[in-house]
Amino acid sequence: MKITIIYDNETQREDCTADWGFSCLVEVDTHKILFDTGAKSSILLDNMSKLGIEPAIITSVFISHSHWDHTGGLAEILKMNPVEIYIPSSYNNPPSGAKKVVKIKEPQKIFENIFSTGELDNIEQSLVVKTPKGAVVIVGCSHPGIDKILKAASRFGKIYALIGGFHGFDEFDVIKDAKIICATHCTQHKSEIKSIYPKRFVAGGVGKVIEI
Ligand SMILES: [Zn+2]
Ligand SMILES: [Zn+2]
Repeated sequence: MKITIIYDNETQREDCTADWGFSCLVEVDTHKILFDTGAKSSILLDNMSKLGIEPAIITSVFISHSHWDHTGGLAEILKMNPVEIYIPSSYNNPPSGAKKVVKIKEPQKIFENIFSTGELDNIEQSLVVKTPKGAVVIVGCSHPGIDKILKAASRFGKIYALIGGFHGFDEFDVIKDAKIICATHCTQHKSEIKSIYPKRFVAGGVGKVIEI
């Protein structure tokens, strides 16, 4: 599987734009899932174009939670490619145009080897991909807390990688078993996480590609 960060507070590429928000493309077998859509559609689409990602290749959209910095580009993406969307049940008024709107409450399988943790704390779901190396967990802002998210994700396998925004997460022991830790977007304690897990820390930023 392959993860490409499209929207992030930092960028690894000079030709792309950094902005507060998060989005990445998750490629597993034939699935090309857009995870969240950043804050501004213009930046999302421009970064995608610089990274060679055509909106037409997206096969579905997964929204972690309804905050503006994760849903800003959704309406525009659906105009260009009306795919099905998987949203947490608390997301009340998603933009129209989707082929199908799947509201998620409970932990569930979405596609072969691809799962949602279910909506935790009535706000946010995380995406889990089962791989031969373990479970790869992709998070938006981690509002319910990394602890709770990993507990929910571990039903799909031993945690191998954790990627996305960790918010104010500071119970650093909780992630000690993860082999890849890409703490990005809203993560407040990035430098502490990096200094505790120097070998497993992976810097995020627009253009970052993680292949597992
Ligand atoms: Zn948020
Ligand atoms: Zn956020």
